[in-house]
Amino acid sequence: MNYVSTRGRAPRLGFEDTMLAGLARDGGLYVPETVPPMDRADIAALAGVSYEDAAVRVMRPFLGDSFTEGELADAVAAAYAGFNHPARAPLRQLAPGHFLLELFHGPTLAFKDFAMQLIGQLFQTALARSGQRITIVGATSGDTGSAAIEAFRGLPNVDVVILFPEGRVSEVQRRQMTTATDANVHAVALAGDFDAAQARVKDMFNDFAFRDAVGLTAVNSINWARVLAQVVYYFTSAVALGAPHRTVDFTVPTGNFGDIYAGSVARAMGLPIGRLVIATNHNDILHRTLQTAEHLATGVLPSISPSMDIQVSSNFERALFDALERDGAAVTALMDELKTQGGFALPQGAVTALRGLYASGRASEDETRATITRTLAETGELLCPHSAVGVHVAEGFLGPVPMVTLATAHPAKFPDAVAAATGVRPPLPAHMADLYQRPERVTHLPDDLATLQDFVRERRAA
Ligand SMILES: *Cc1c(COP(=O)(O)O)cnc(C)c1O
Repeated sequence: MNYVSTRGRAPRLGFEDTMLAGLARDGGLYVPETVPPMDRADIAALAGVSYEDAAVRVMRPFLGDSFTEGELADAVAAAYAGFNHPARAPLRQLAPGHFLLELFHGPTLAFKDFAMQLIGQLFQTALARSGQRITIVGATSGDTGSAAIEAFRGLPNVDVVILFPEGRVSEVQRRQMTTATDANVHAVALAGDFDAAQARVKDMFNDFAFRDAVGLTAVNSINWARVLAQVVYYFTSAVALGAPHRTVDFTVPTGNFGDIYAGSVARAMGLPIGRLVIATNHNDILHRTLQTAEHLATGVLPSISPSMDIQVSSNFERALFDALERDGAAVTALMDELKTQGGFALPQGAVTALRGLYASGRASEDETRATITRTLAETGELLCPHSAVGVHVAEGFLGPVPMVTLATAHPAKFPDAVAAATGVRPPLPAHMADLYQRPERVTHLPDDLATLQDFVRERRAA
């Protein structure tokens, strides 16, 4: 099982090296050379098995000989043992034909835990074997950072540096990142927005001398192993609703396009997914791209769903690579245009391909708030603002095919927005009830590459 870069000029790697590298050396993202199919009988056989068993069966073919089946099973078991719900990813019915997939029962209360907890385990296995020392540097719009810190804190041979946009994450998100006491964890409040943080991380990766000196690794959603871990819950939820005998639609609150891209991988493996709907807040570049065939980054406007306040959507490059018939040179040209001119026009063939794979919609701030209010009144379910964006958009696509909307975070992660919409202030779960009392530890840094690199070098040497 080999992985190739979306830009076509990086070495082809096996699963373990793909996971440890994060970003390809040509600036591209790794994708599997071919997607291993799962036949109808194997999909049907997932009915009734535990989430952990399903995870091993779905992911195993992608790992090649990097990990044994026993190592994978152990990693999966350890990854999900700390979840607060025995089903891991339970489905709740909101209305006839409309279901909510609750992905927020992990330790940091967002769907990011599904992938991050697993790769924490896989990294540990791989690094223990090689004795290698690495530095994880990640940009976060709020949830990736806390999930990464929770998954990698205290691990030997790993330093974790997380850049978050100062003032643009919720207080719960910030405290989850700044209150870890482990010496290998470093939270940085960057003077800039998420796109700036993500751009500096990419700059660090493109500085090969620096990259090699500190053993730089990315665990952002550009890391293929994270996408893979997210493929699993598309299978478990679709099978619970009757797949492979029945088609299921999904709506996914989308920012960096990692979660929804995982859905497209599930479909490519053979899962009968009908519509795959991109749901955005007012930072709607992905919705506009499908509507207008122009991918134009405007500025980021803060919203009540901050984890989706993104205009440079990294994983969209993977969808583009497929839509451009895997032409790495064409992807490189468009990505250069995005960087230098802030956007590009999609070739007609690519637009047609993308419109065949994805539908899209957006929710305004008012629509998001109204959806939180109405859903609580009608169903008793308290939605976080991101999940509410999804529910609002999904409601425009309901029909004879069952629809699953992904609930990406716990409402208690965004208590102010939820309380404003409902009057109900969702309490934090018991394991983090003292979050507001824990001391914070954070470094404030400017949006400047050299300063950030010095910080990473010093922390690593410490
Ligand atoms: C990360 C995140 C998203 C966006 O997911 P992508 O994979 O970046 O598209 C949506 N909602 C929440 C709560 C998130 O943390």
